[in-house]
Amino acid sequence: MVKWKPIKSIWFLTHVAATVFVAPFVLSISAFSVFVVLTVITLCFGHSLGMHRLLIHRSYECPKWMEYLFVYLGVLVGMSGPIGMIIQHDLRDWAQRQPQCHDYLLHGSKILKDGWWQLNCDLELNNPPEFIIEKEVSLNRFYLFVEKKWIFQQLILAIPLFLIGGISWLVWGISVRIVISVGGHWLIGYFAHNKGERTWKVEGAAVQGHNVRIAGLLSMGEAWHNNHHAYPGSAMLGLYSDEPDLGWWVLNILHNLGIVKNIKLPKELPFRSELVAEAENLDSRVERVPEDCKIAKFIRNGT
Ligand SMILES: [Zn+2]
Ligand SMILES: [Zn+2]
Repeated sequence: MVKWKPIKSIWFLTHVAATVFVAPFVLSISAFSVFVVLTVITLCFGHSLGMHRLLIHRSYECPKWMEYLFVYLGVLVGMSGPIGMIIQHDLRDWAQRQPQCHDYLLHGSKILKDGWWQLNCDLELNNPPEFIIEKEVSLNRFYLFVEKKWIFQQLILAIPLFLIGGISWLVWGISVRIVISVGGHWLIGYFAHNKGERTWKVEGAAVQGHNVRIAGLLSMGEAWHNNHHAYPGSAMLGLYSDEPDLGWWVLNILHNLGIVKNIKLPKELPFRSELVAEAENLDSRVERVPEDCKIAKFIRNGT
């Protein structure tokens, strides 16, 4: 049953109200710049690289300090805590691979109804599947703390923003950013399960993922969702050279710097017999591969 969740709903709608009724009247170049910089940092390093590609899929390895930093930036997106993110994601992942699945989990309703559901409600299952979250996360005191207090983490940004730039920086740096990030995440999720290109088909699945080309770059690579359904464990989401993937570019640099190790790519993942290539032009497309980065090499070796 889909049930209204007061905290989730009031949290999002409060920021929508501030975005509609306050933000336009306090707009300045500096406030807009703060919004852009914080949105890119939290979505790219936090949501995509921290929460999704690392914490959820373990698609690469990095030092613990980097994991905590990236996941914390992911909490600052304003969507939920790290454990909440894992549960939401794994439930969807599991359900979408079944032969049938609830409209809530596959974005199967009309856009307005889906928007209301996803941004204001949760699906309550009678017999929810049991997920075992790795102990390093589920018993970790840092993760448990930010899980409980994820909303309050915004204060780390809100207080300095208000002190430096007043109400203008506060509204653009917190409320507008949260509306664009959380609302954008839903909108891309909606299209990524309804419309767009498909390179692969996962046979027997309740829903297919689509690549939402128009959002590829802005989503930090997350909109290449057909690729993600095909290769969930891959650290690379934009798999071809015409699929921009900002998250991958950052990861590639960090790999060149020697900070990130054991990046998982589609070729290294276990074979899936249910995966069928659907696109006809696969042979003519150029696959993206890890590349040498001259700047990183210079930083490492000084040559
Ligand atoms: Zn999906
Ligand atoms: Zn995923």
